[in-house]
Parts: sequence; C-alpha cells; structure tokens
Amino acid sequence: MKYIFVTGGVVSSLGKGITASSLGALLRARGHRVAAVKIDPYINLDAGTMRPYEHGEVFVTGDGAETDLDLGNYERFLNIDTSRGSNITTGQVYRTVIERERKGEYLSQTVQVIPHITDEIKNRIRAVAQAANADITVVEVGGTVGDIESLPFLEAIRTMRFDEAYENTAYLHVTLAPEVSTGEIKTKPTQHSVAQLRSTGISPDFIVVRSSTPVSDEMRRKIALFTSVEPERVYSSFNVEYLYEVPLAFEEQGLGREVEKRLKLETIPPALSFWHDAVKKLKSPTFEVNIGFVGKYVAMGDSYLSILEGLRHAGIAADARVNVHWVNAETLDSDEDAKTALEHLDGVLVGPGFGMRGIEGKIRAAKFARTHNKPYFGICLGLQIAVIEFARHMANLEGANSTEFDQYAKHPVIGIMPEQLETEDLGGTMRLGDWEMNIKPSTLLEKVYGTSGTVLERHRHRYEVNPDYVQRLEAAGLIVSAVTPGKAQRGAGLVEAIELPNHPFFVALQAHPEFKSRPMRVSPPFKAFIVAALEHRKA
Ligand code: GLN
Repeated sequence: MKYIFVTGGVVSSLGKGITASSLGALLRARGHRVAAVKIDPYINLDAGTMRPYEHGEVFVTGDGAETDLDLGNYERFLNIDTSRGSNITTGQVYRTVIERERKGEYLSQTVQVIPHITDEIKNRIRAVAQAANADITVVEVGGTVGDIESLPFLEAIRTMRFDEAYENTAYLHVTLAPEVSTGEIKTKPTQHSVAQLRSTGISPDFIVVRSSTPVSDEMRRKIALFTSVEPERVYSSFNVEYLYEVPLAFEEQGLGREVEKRLKLETIPPALSFWHDAVKKLKSPTFEVNIGFVGKYVAMGDSYLSILEGLRHAGIAADARVNVHWVNAETLDSDEDAKTALEHLDGVLVGPGFGMRGIEGKIRAAKFARTHNKPYFGICLGLQIAVIEFARHMANLEGANSTEFDQYAKHPVIGIMPEQLETEDLGGTMRLGDWEMNIKPSTLLEKVYGTSGTVLERHRHRYEVNPDYVQRLEAAGLIVSAVTPGKAQRGAGLVEAIELPNHPFFVALQAHPEFKSRPMRVSPPFKAFIVAALEHRKA
C-alpha cells in the first residue's frame, strides 16, 4: 500500500482539494485502485455543525457522515465512494484517545501527542487504505503548513515514511506564486513555504505552484533549484475555465507518470478520453439552458457546490451549457416579483436550506413554476416548499407550513415525526446518508430513474412530509411518486418524492441526489431536469 500526502503552504484556499482530486483522477485513469482521505485539523468532530457560508457545503457520505466538501471532489474526480473514515478531524482523534485512556487501555502510561495521538492518526489513515484495498491513498492535510493545529498530523505523515518505506510514501506540497502589480509572478513565498515544511522534517517530492497564469519552464527550474526538487517534479496549476481541466493540465506536465515512477508503481498509459470529451462538451456545447437557482443570498457559491456540479454533469450529458442564475428568495415579495425574476428562465431549482429566511419567496417561486408550466426541481427543502405551496393553494389548507418555520402552523404539512422527539440530541434526529426510496410505477419519476424499484439517495434533513396530510394532498392532485420502504423502522412510508400531473416537469425529492452525481455517473433527476428545461426552451 502506497501513500501520497498533499500539504499546502502560503495561504489557504489554494485548491489543494482539487490538486489531490486531480492527482487521484490521473491515477484512476491508469487503472490503479485509489482511496482518498481529508484531514481537517479543527476540533469539531465533523462538519455537520459548521456554517456552510464560511466552510462551503457540508458533504454527506453514503454511510451518513457530514463531512468537508473535499470528499465530494474526491467522489466526483475519482468516481469512488468515500465514507465516514475518509474525513479525519482533530476532535475525532482526541476523542478516541481520551476514551481509550478512560478505559485504562494505556495501562499506566503517560498519554501524549507523540506517540499516542500520532499513532491514532496513522491508524485512521491506514484503515481507509485497507477498507478500499487501495494501491495508493491520497491524503490531503487541511490547513496551511505552519499552523499550530496541523503539527500532530504533519508529524504523523512524516513518520509514515519510516513505517511504510521510501518507495511507498511521497509528499506533494501546494504553494502560491502571487502576481505583483508589475505582472511578475513571484516565487519567494514558495521558497519560504518549502523551508517551513522542511522544518517539520518533511521534504517534498513534488511541488504544485498555484498561479493565475502558467509558470514558465525557467521559473520551474528556479523553483526546483532552491527547493531541491527535480524540475520535472514541479508543476504549474494555473487558472482554468472548468475544474475538470485540471487533471488534463497536470497530465500534460507529467504528474501522473512521475508519481508512478517515484512510488515504483507499474507504469500504465492513462485512459483520459472521458475527461477530454467532458471538457470539450463544457467548452463548446451545442445547446444552452438558463436555470434559476432560488436561494438565500448568503448561501450562494460554495455552499451549494454539489448541486452546481450536478447541473454541470447534466449539462455535459445533455450537450448543453447550463447557466445558473441566482435568484435571491428574499426579493420575491409578490407573485409579480416571482414572475419577473423567473419568466425568462428555462427551469426553477429550489435547493436545500435550514431556517426560515427566504421561505415565502421560495414558495412564490414554486407557485410560479407550477402555474406557468416551468420545469421545477426541488431538492430537500425544495420538496417541502412545493408541498407547502400545493397545500395552501390547491388543497385548501390555508396556513399550511412546516413547523420548522411556524411552530404553531394551522396545518403542519411538514413536521418532526414523533419517533424523532424521543432523542434529545438535535443532530441525532437528522435523517442522514443513504436511504432507500421505492419509486411508484407509472410516475414521471419512474421514467427519470428508469425503474419503479428501489433506489438509494443520500439524505440530510430533519423534517418530513406529515403523513396525516398525505391523503388530502393526494386527493387534491399531488402525486407521491416515491416513499421510504419498510414497516417497522423509522421512516417507513415517508414521502420521498412528489410530482404534479399535467405539468411538463415538476419533480421534488426529499433526498439530495446531488451527493451522488459524478461526471461519469450523472444523477438521473438532474439529467431529467436539464433535458426538460431544454425542451421548455425549444418550445
Ligand atoms: N430544513 C429542512 C429539514 O431539516 C430541509 C433540510 C435540507 O434542505 N437539507 O428537513
């Protein structure tokens, strides 16, 4: 088993995750078995309690972990499933060590950062590699070299070279070459950052220099010289239009081949035609479609990363450029506002969310889509919104709401299920990770998924469609197109998806299909939504 450790210096947000993912994609394209680990040096046990506006989206794995968004990048670029163990945080490591200490498992030793914490870190990394039976595990260390909180992780990966042998471990350091006002690209911060990394005892084998424009060969040689890394192992990571170009840019510079050489892996020519085609489709698609993404102003951008990616994958599959237009829900104060904001668009997406800001605006957007035959795609909260809207305006349930937004709603069409109230831990009541949904025959959803059987989608939500109202909603014409199967367990019979009859495409899911969408495996509802939007545009 081999490991490649990715660290970063100079500043954060260098695209370390994209570098690690792209490297993984290149190794996968050669047929190697690859696993990926993200280390987050913060104390939080997971990303579930963190603000997405600050840290970006909370990604959800199949086994129900709430993780850093980089796991989503790994899944998309490597076309693999990650799991709970793939995101290691300081909090998890210390908790395990402290629990073990309380049980007396360290006998009467003094429990210390070295070796107990560092051993636990290494155990966790190895566990991921073993579970995936990986040839190579890419381990990305979050934060920046020099941070106090990263030190135990750097010490752990430093000593892995001695545990695992030289040809089984390599270090790749990502730095920044900033452009100064004269337009010149500066290499000095890279020099300092590598010196800082060396002070922890780690010498990089590879350097990736992030800059706005490609770094010249002359500059690569200069960096190589002062960092003592071979010039052919210094790579330029420059701005590209689409992230999926990054693996190709690295391949052209020889990264995949050099990593194989350094780790004494079998040399295999990479099969990259999928990525070439995908980039070609992204850059010059035949069609174009405009989607309105209705959300809270503060939540735009990285907090919906997987949804934006899902739309992109659907665009690649449908040979269409998908332009996403942010529609601030808080500005939709009337039906007229909703019309003005949405009528020129080809589809309306209402995405996930927590809290009551912007809710009424989202309901107006759903109403507009329903009454104007606009393709509508609701994800999680987007389903709850559609149900509230339908209840109020079609099922005669005035005052219908979710108890999340109005505790005393006259008609709580969305609410917390009684079984959930038995646990006191807020986080514990969430429905997380893979849950089955049984698709009903003769529904649009059956066409979307190509089956009326059971499919798995990932979940992350607390509220459900209130079963007490389902009959009344159905009587008014709402179609429940999928439910949670089973009898005894929590969730049996819960609404998983809805749609409307006599509407070209009005589909909403309680799940988050975006978490399973990948360039190589496009999410069926994303694809169907984009196809419907294209048809709407043509009509
Ligand atoms: N706030 C809603 C719930 O908790 C929706 C969550 C979501 O969109 N992920 O059920």
